[in-house]
Amino acid sequence: MHRDQVFTRRRVLWGAGAVAAGGAGAVALGVSGGGEPAAVPAAGPPARTVPRKPSAYRLQPITGFGPPPASSRLPARRKPILEMSGRGNTMVLTFDDGPDPRYTPAILDTLDEYGVRAMFFVCGEMATDHRELLARMADEGHVVGNHTWSHPLLTKLRRGRIRSEMERTCEVIEEAYGERPRWFRAPYGAWNRAAFQIGAELGMEPLAWTVDTLDWTTPGTGTIVRRVAGGAGPGVVVLSHDAGGDRTQSVRALRRYLPRLLDSGYHITVPRGHPA
Ligand SMILES: [Zn+2]
Repeated sequence: MHRDQVFTRRRVLWGAGAVAAGGAGAVALGVSGGGEPAAVPAAGPPARTVPRKPSAYRLQPITGFGPPPASSRLPARRKPILEMSGRGNTMVLTFDDGPDPRYTPAILDTLDEYGVRAMFFVCGEMATDHRELLARMADEGHVVGNHTWSHPLLTKLRRGRIRSEMERTCEVIEEAYGERPRWFRAPYGAWNRAAFQIGAELGMEPLAWTVDTLDWTTPGTGTIVRRVAGGAGPGVVVLSHDAGGDRTQSVRALRRYLPRLLDSGYHITVPRGHPA
């Protein structure tokens, strides 16, 4: 009983403080779930050189958890995007795990030869060592997405580690590519709620794929070509890799399936901005 009374009184005090603080306080109150005054100075605030008003003290810890600027934050999805809703016969080619100086330049050369842009989901630990390849991707109009720092299985990680994997990679991309990434892809396609939430907080949409070439199993160049050709269709997102092992077949396959897709009338493109 006594606890309840104290709790109620705190809620009243907290509510009054939030109203006095205006809009920011009201938003923070919603985030806190209502009635959970994160820090009530029952025994007085810790020592400060300048005394603060009690209401200001109570607001301070809560406002620290307020949302980041609305311009970058997105609503968190529960599932990744699997295809691009699109205009006409558009397809998207994506390359994961790089950049790798043994394979990525050849892929960029082929894309350049046909005037085609693609998406590269890079790992931070690869990107930081090959920043010149991210700069080239920027120069040539490709889209760079976040594929975590070290390619872990996110579903096995604590939230703080997921965040650092994604944040560090955002920072390297921003430095080397010149823009923060707007897209992320979970390694192994293994997503969880924390990954969706943190990605949204960092301003990124989750993109999976429609057609998996399984090129990492090195099934043969012809098999990769057949998988892309067989899966081609409007809005299809193709998954391949430009790093993580011997990607010679992936490089050769692109040289064969890209002209075929173009001859078949497909427009190979990249998303501009986020989907609606
Ligand atoms: Zn990967």
